[in-house]
Amino acid sequence: MAALALSDYRRLVVKVGSSLLIDDAGELNRHWLETLADDIGRLARDGHEILIVSSGAIAIGSSVLGINKARARLEDLQAAAAAGQVQLVHAYQGILGVHGIAAAQVLLTPEDTENRRRFLNARGTLARLLERNVIPIINENDTVATEEIRYGDNDRLAARVAQLVMADALILLSDVDGFYTADPGTNPAAEHIPEVKRITTDMQGMAGETRSDVGSGGMATKVQAARIATHAGCSTVIASGAIDHPISALLSGARHTVFRAEGTPAAARKQWLAGVLEVQGELCVDDGAVSALRNGKSLLPVGVVEVIGNFRRGDVVNIIGPSGEELGRGLAEYSNTEAGRLAGCQSEQIEDKLGYRGRSVMVHRDELVLFDNDSDKS
Ligand code: GLU
Repeated sequence: MAALALSDYRRLVVKVGSSLLIDDAGELNRHWLETLADDIGRLARDGHEILIVSSGAIAIGSSVLGINKARARLEDLQAAAAAGQVQLVHAYQGILGVHGIAAAQVLLTPEDTENRRRFLNARGTLARLLERNVIPIINENDTVATEEIRYGDNDRLAARVAQLVMADALILLSDVDGFYTADPGTNPAAEHIPEVKRITTDMQGMAGETRSDVGSGGMATKVQAARIATHAGCSTVIASGAIDHPISALLSGARHTVFRAEGTPAAARKQWLAGVLEVQGELCVDDGAVSALRNGKSLLPVGVVEVIGNFRRGDVVNIIGPSGEELGRGLAEYSNTEAGRLAGCQSEQIEDKLGYRGRSVMVHRDELVLFDNDSDKS
């Protein structure tokens, strides 16, 4: 089949399933991980920004603590995750270090991607790590997540991360080499689908439940993840990681399924912002800010002349030009009280004005949509 053209994608999220990382004895499969690191090193040298969402903490921790996963209670699994996570990240740090790449641990809960205030924090931190060429190693914060508030599987977490960082592609590496019309494990007539342009509802049914012993995601969770990511403008690839150098293999034509993104990540984010019904306030800006915004820059405190309404960090606010025209809208990085204190001030004065270290922008350019004409608002 046609090789995957990764050169089309700049920011990539690679999800690594537990069944690839952990061998039958519950030990970390270090050799395989080294081959993955070779691939990641190559991608980084080619100018890609990479985030890794890795499972495996519970599986490693269960063997460290002698816990039988099948009979364990939630607290046991959480303890296993805590013990396993440290080893997991240590392993990534070691194998990426060989390629001169630093790793950072990021643990998330659904609140962090679904609550807009926390979303801004997570996004800001991840963006800064990528700017510094550090690879975030991301997992669910299993220690504090409870059954009702968990992503539950890292396929969904990886899709949310892809949406958060506006990734161009999400690669789900597991023990299956793509999407089939039925479960290929039980149905010999199952056909492999190399490309999906639009996810239909019956595809979810076709996905079946191909669970593996070690991980928690099946094909159904992968299709759900692909749905979240493709809506956010991120193409999603399901590929087998059960071979050495799994990403190089993909680039030389290994079997996979690609779910094509609907538009670009920026267009998806702007469409979402334009459609938000609850706008909590207004930031009135000067001419300098208008031209900066039109040139694709963020809104800085210096360009804000007036703050109207009651809003919190992460709320949607309208941006109003000097003659009262609605220029666009975006997510406020500051509450109305803080924004009022900062209006008109230089970024270097932020700490003095607030009494604590703040963020340099009022609205970040990635969280901003400008209305060229009224039709954009609908
Ligand atoms: N967060 C879990 C772990 O690290 C994995 C969840 C999953 O397998 O999708 O063990």
